[in-house]
Amino acid sequence: MFNLGCHLTSSKGYENMAREAIKINADTFQFFTRNPRGGKAKDIDPADVERFLALAKEAGIGKIVAHAPYTLNPCSAEQRTRDFAFMAMSDDLRRMEYTPGNYYNFHPGSHVGQGTEAGIQMIADLLNRILTPEQTTTVLLETMAGKGSEIGGRFEELAAIIDKVHLKDKIGVCLDTCHVHDGGYDIVNDLDGVIAEFDRVIGINRLKAIHINDSQNICGAHKDRHACIGEGHIGTETIAAVLNHPKLKGLPAILETPQPDLAGYAAEIQMLREKEI
Ligand code: FE
Ligand code: FE
Ligand code: ZN
Repeated sequence: MFNLGCHLTSSKGYENMAREAIKINADTFQFFTRNPRGGKAKDIDPADVERFLALAKEAGIGKIVAHAPYTLNPCSAEQRTRDFAFMAMSDDLRRMEYTPGNYYNFHPGSHVGQGTEAGIQMIADLLNRILTPEQTTTVLLETMAGKGSEIGGRFEELAAIIDKVHLKDKIGVCLDTCHVHDGGYDIVNDLDGVIAEFDRVIGINRLKAIHINDSQNICGAHKDRHACIGEGHIGTETIAAVLNHPKLKGLPAILETPQPDLAGYAAEIQMLREKEI
């Protein structure tokens, strides 16, 4: 079965997100661990977490995906920014242990002219400082569109990071359909080929979650502008094929489309659920 949801606002806590997910027929969701532009995270309310865990169990909400702030850049040229990456990721992973066994997704980073190889090393160094054998959270590297000096626009770059990480069982990948398409992987005409390439370079067992977005731009545009499903260059049939793909089916799939409200996500989820074969 599809495991579908969307990005939700976390400001009212975990229980509220579960209630919203249930309302829109979602069985997973994603949220920012803190303000996406950075800043301090709100303290976890253990009573809220308790209510969430009970509700999630009852409603069949599976693994959820936390998203790191966009400002987190482990391979910045600025020490201050790298320090923020360390602080934010350590703190986020500590807080995520209140809801054990879920996913923490982050954008690998932008090397800002220092070179891909140097960037990959800095990202792996951060992970090696932070990951612990005790943690129950799996950290996901998101596939990127390859905009500017972004790392992760090629599967090889993600594989190179993973290769340098010591605690490999704490690492996975989140495939963003808009990003891989914009990165030049032709999921519209050759989905099987792209999945086979992912498997060859990274290993399909590393794939833990999917972001399902249409794209405002053509394959290889390196732009990263999301569109609602069916309103971009990827199209509903390809998104349905991604969700139904035997190697991908059942993974947590998160809509990050520019819907104006929850009702928009409800309709998009309903439309996609009808495409399940
Ligand atoms: Fe993202
Ligand atoms: Fe994404
Ligand atoms: Zn994006």
